[in-house]
Amino acid sequence: MRPKLAIRAVRPLAIGGLVVALSATLAGGQHPATSRPGPTRAALAPRAAPFPPGRPRAITDSATVMYMVRGLSHPRMEGRGAGTAGLDSAAALIAGEMAWLGLRPGGDDGTYYQAFEVTTGVAVGEPCAITVGEKRFSLGDHFQPLGFSNNGTLTAPVVFAGYGITAPGFDYDDYAGVDVHDKLVLVLSNEPGEMDSTSRFDGSINTPHAEVRTKAINAREHGALGLLVVNGPRHHAGEPLRKPRTEGGGYMTSGLLAAYVSEEVAGALIAPSGLDLATLQLDIDRETRPHSVALSGSAAVTITLQRTRASIKNVIGWIAGRDSGRTLVVGAHYDHLGYGGESSLAPDSRLPHLGADDNASGVAAMLSVAAWKTEWGRPDRAPLHNLVFCAFTGEELGLVGSSHFVDDPTLPLPTIEAMVNMDMVGRLRNNRLLVMGVGTASEFPALTGQVNARAGFDLKTSGDGYGPSDHSSFYKRKVPVLALFTGAHADYHKPTDSMDRIEAQGLWRVALFARDLVDSLDRRPRATFQQAKSDSGAGRIAGGGGYGAYLGTIPDYMQTEGGVLLSGVRASSPADSAGLRGGDVIVKFDGVRVDNIYDYTFALRSRKPGQQARITVKRDGREVELVAVLGRRK
Ligand SMILES: [Zn+2]
Ligand SMILES: [Zn+2]
Repeated sequence: MRPKLAIRAVRPLAIGGLVVALSATLAGGQHPATSRPGPTRAALAPRAAPFPPGRPRAITDSATVMYMVRGLSHPRMEGRGAGTAGLDSAAALIAGEMAWLGLRPGGDDGTYYQAFEVTTGVAVGEPCAITVGEKRFSLGDHFQPLGFSNNGTLTAPVVFAGYGITAPGFDYDDYAGVDVHDKLVLVLSNEPGEMDSTSRFDGSINTPHAEVRTKAINAREHGALGLLVVNGPRHHAGEPLRKPRTEGGGYMTSGLLAAYVSEEVAGALIAPSGLDLATLQLDIDRETRPHSVALSGSAAVTITLQRTRASIKNVIGWIAGRDSGRTLVVGAHYDHLGYGGESSLAPDSRLPHLGADDNASGVAAMLSVAAWKTEWGRPDRAPLHNLVFCAFTGEELGLVGSSHFVDDPTLPLPTIEAMVNMDMVGRLRNNRLLVMGVGTASEFPALTGQVNARAGFDLKTSGDGYGPSDHSSFYKRKVPVLALFTGAHADYHKPTDSMDRIEAQGLWRVALFARDLVDSLDRRPRATFQQAKSDSGAGRIAGGGGYGAYLGTIPDYMQTEGGVLLSGVRASSPADSAGLRGGDVIVKFDGVRVDNIYDYTFALRSRKPGQQARITVKRDGREVELVAVLGRRK
């Protein structure tokens, strides 16, 4: 057991006008108690001699590697969500470390930052209200817009459509036999048979049909112009209405007006027809049979939302190689989920999602590699390649930071010979390390094997260069990639992904492995890119798969509306066979309008493997219709 280490240095870090004291726990006695410079303009200037002779290296053992994990996963970093001040603080911490290590700034205008804008969430504006008969319910306990609602005003007849679910797989359709065209639809939250282990649906956990966004798209596809969601009185009576999240995903709109309403509002809509909500819900649940009905009245809904934008930034530092025409990239994203949002697996929590493993661990390991290399910055030991260290932002929003980097690289893309990514490398268990992307260069299987001969991991490899992290952005530009990962766990995407659960010694060993990979790549001729065969989803971090049909498209997450832009298709996938290709924008999928990635996911989920699907794409300014035979998701 490691004894408790003394706090050797407290370094002030200037963050947006505040001075925050970050304590650094450093290895026993060897580190001078200096205060490191924050990322001021002066500190960002490249330095000729980064280390005075004899000065100890920065992140050089399993205790010091935790320094960066601790700093990034501290609650004051607010879970590093897009649009939070905490994310900027995290960027400043990383830039400060890069400056201290003596890396050259690799961002805009001689800084470490490469900044760009994203949509981060919504703010509720006025007016927002629903009027039923003579009664107006304004924003508050009785009415809350959903974050993905369109803006506008609608007065229309109302149809009660049960749970708002169309689920052929469960032989259940709330829209069977009712006409909701140009109407408002009132639905219950969740799904039939909640908390009933005998339910035809899961009973204990919600299926994807229960997601409100799925319900909204389903309502729209049935012709409705608005969706009202009420918490079912059987299990959720009296629960306060959820407010739209002000942070998180891009809030791509759903194409109709959508809001939560209280039981009182639902009652006002239903009562004139001589019905009541509790009885309707009980009847549906008991029989697992829809009880949809056109109601006698109408309602007027007005929704006003403002999309909020924020500037976020990649943090980039580099070391010049002896050959300026050759480059290796080492990357790790530093953003996380902030206070939750659509990707959280604890969706009701408002606590900061600390993201110690995802992905403070990868950033710490990446900076360890940089620390070794800067110490080697003497001419006799300088690397052959330029070594570029990228702390990516916006990974959790859909790889937006790395996409931005490959679209607008700070170094010429053709000089990039390989990219090593680290995402979630702090939970080593049973000595098992997963390396993805070994199929993306013909030399990689041998190279990883040789490096592991020294490291001694129980190595699991996967060939595919596409995966749920930033290496995908490089692979789609035909850069060979290797991605390290120590596996998913119960704290994944939850507030409990905290520093105390990081396996420091294992994280350190992964950092050593990454350093050896970079060294091996640096000593070799350029690796030969090859298109990897996709494999059965080994390395898929979050569940995701196992539901609906498979097409094999690779969406470009930078385009958020106006269709789904493809950055490519997987070799010999159904999409490939159908003639889809990179650059296509999918606007329609088997009759379902596709404006964004949620529509597309909905469409794929609602079709079965083996079915034919007509897909309309925009290509070179024209619409082209293709036919695909859908495959099975593995
Ligand atoms: Zn991650
Ligand atoms: Zn993540």
